[in-house]
Amino acid sequence: MIPVKRLPAPDVLARCEERWRTAYLERRAKDPQKRPSSKQYAHPDIVSTLETMSHHKCFYCEQSTKQTRHEVDHYIDVAEDPTRAFTWTNLYLSCWECNHQKQPNRAIPVTDCLDPCAPDAQPSRHLMFETELIRAREGSAQGLATIKKYRLDRKDLDHKRMKQLHLFNEALIRIKDALIADGRKDMNENEMAVLRSFCQPDFPFSLMFQAYLERHRP
Ligand SMILES: [Zn+2]
Repeated sequence: MIPVKRLPAPDVLARCEERWRTAYLERRAKDPQKRPSSKQYAHPDIVSTLETMSHHKCFYCEQSTKQTRHEVDHYIDVAEDPTRAFTWTNLYLSCWECNHQKQPNRAIPVTDCLDPCAPDAQPSRHLMFETELIRAREGSAQGLATIKKYRLDRKDLDHKRMKQLHLFNEALIRIKDALIADGRKDMNENEMAVLRSFCQPDFPFSLMFQAYLERHRP
């Protein structure tokens, strides 16, 4: 998880939000199990704006959503607050796994967790990594609750993070080989840029690489 800066609501939501919400709440009054229509809250313009905000990554686990199944997630569950089913600030981009494995609010409330869209969000102060394994930094309760809520320690993520770390280590070895071959002590700007690219917000699992580079700065 890294901070995600929210863009203005897409036009379709600004135009239709109130109508969609009113119609949904009327239907829900007759059938309390009724779900909001994903054709509405996950309209292509809404998905596209969320993708721009997160550089096509899941807001929670930072895996790329370009080739993987993803959905629009209600940060506050619809079951908890149906009036926010179409509220722009309640719509987050999530990979399928984070959305379907997340613990409901009654088990782990979002108020106990890190919110990537909070203006003062600083996930790096609460989450850390031991190689590909995610941990709560210094026993952070918020970090721990976030890992548990979205199951950020699940096996499929460990595996994907490990593969990305492998790419990073290959790049690092190439650079170290060049340093030895050239008899240089310090990396040049291009080499630094290669390593820093892994930490950029558009790179999958960038928080892991920020922490990794901090510890392993050659
Ligand atoms: Zn995810």
